[in-house]
Amino acid sequence: MTVDVLELLTDLHAQAYRQGPGDDSQTRLALKLSGLQPSTDLKIADIGCGTGAAALILAADLQAQVTAVDLLDPFLDRLVERTRDAGLEGRIKPMKASMTDLPFLPESFDAIWSEGAIYNMGFAEGLDAWSRFLKPGGKLVVSDLTWLTAKRPDELQAYWDALYPGVDTAAARFGLLEEAGFRPTGYFTLPPHCWLDNYYRPTQAKLPFLLEKHGTGQTVRDFVAEFEREIEIYETYRKYVSYGVFIAEKL
Ligand code: SAH
Repeated sequence: MTVDVLELLTDLHAQAYRQGPGDDSQTRLALKLSGLQPSTDLKIADIGCGTGAAALILAADLQAQVTAVDLLDPFLDRLVERTRDAGLEGRIKPMKASMTDLPFLPESFDAIWSEGAIYNMGFAEGLDAWSRFLKPGGKLVVSDLTWLTAKRPDELQAYWDALYPGVDTAAARFGLLEEAGFRPTGYFTLPPHCWLDNYYRPTQAKLPFLLEKHGTGQTVRDFVAEFEREIEIYETYRKYVSYGVFIAEKL
């Protein structure tokens, strides 16, 4: 049986605390900048929630009703376990759905939250698809890979052009937010420990087990090599690129 990339992604990430760069303190910083106030009436969608790093904080700190959406069952299963461990049953509703085809009613959420996931459809496309689900005055918190400078080394540009050509500067992203009917209210970038300590190092430590489990087939070797390359690129060029966290309000 050949292993597919989805299985490799699941093996690598399903037990992880986060499936991308981030940190609880940064989630809480975004929360503070959003101005959202605790209320059991608050309805929030966490889109591309993974195993629930943000959803758990939103449910605990805001007492909100969180709908946590992801495409992968093993991530949602882990989210359910973590919700139970945190005693937050009833506040987080897991939902298997695609971010491109969400089964929500118009203007049904006070906030839409999405950390490290909008790249799956693109920043502008995500804003366009999700905005309708927010109430007027609703908050949007979204993080995405962002250039930190107007110019950057060719090797870095070429690397991300091939994988995610939508990477852009914060200034360009503010423009997209404004065009999509949002008032940007906050922005910050994730510091290196969010990438290295919270994401790359723990994930890198699991790569030998992945090779052991799945043998030395081409798919798994390519997968591991690509991940190592991504880490190397980040370490070399981290002055030029990070996740930008954008906070905005729907007009
Ligand atoms: N927000 C989490 C996970 C980020 S990784 C965190 O910060 O830890 C990106 C997530 O998007 C993964 O969990 C992946 O399964 C999910 N995803 C990818 N494509 C998706 C889609 N089309 N619809 C919903 N979720 C998707």
